[in-house]
Amino acid sequence: MYQKLSPLPVKKRLALIAHDNKKEELKEWTANNVETLKAHELFATGTTGYLLEKTLGLPVHKFLSGPLGGDQQVGAQIAEGFIDVLFFFWDPFEPMPHDPDVKALLRLTAVWNIPVACNAATADFILRSYWMDKSYSRRIPDYETYLAERTLNLS
Ligand code: PGA
Repeated sequence: MYQKLSPLPVKKRLALIAHDNKKEELKEWTANNVETLKAHELFATGTTGYLLEKTLGLPVHKFLSGPLGGDQQVGAQIAEGFIDVLFFFWDPFEPMPHDPDVKALLRLTAVWNIPVACNAATADFILRSYWMDKSYSRRIPDYETYLAERTLNLS
């Protein structure tokens, strides 16, 4: 797969998602880090977003609730290059009706090479990273070359 460089901006678009058993943990983590989070733009799945907006007093762009398609909406935004970092506190002890969506979302974070935290420790590391308030040049698939090659091979 050909790759190209694509910068993550200084002011980042952060997506936040927590499964129900992890919502308290995400609320506490975001409350402890509100000063840093303030410098960025916040996005979330429906219920998580509503709770965070109430807790933090910051605006949060809300997608649909996760089980109703919100995880897929976040994934689509990652593929479009619109979401820069994902904080996804998923529950390792409960199977979810939307497990395929969770897997698909995590897969897209790998495809498009964005930082992703699935627990509070990683979230701490990411938020205190050197790159958090700087532009970061990441490698992503070079879609134009990918498409040109495929259309050549399949025509
Ligand atoms: P929710 O969705 O924020 O609407 O609860 C989270 C999820 O289960 O993906």
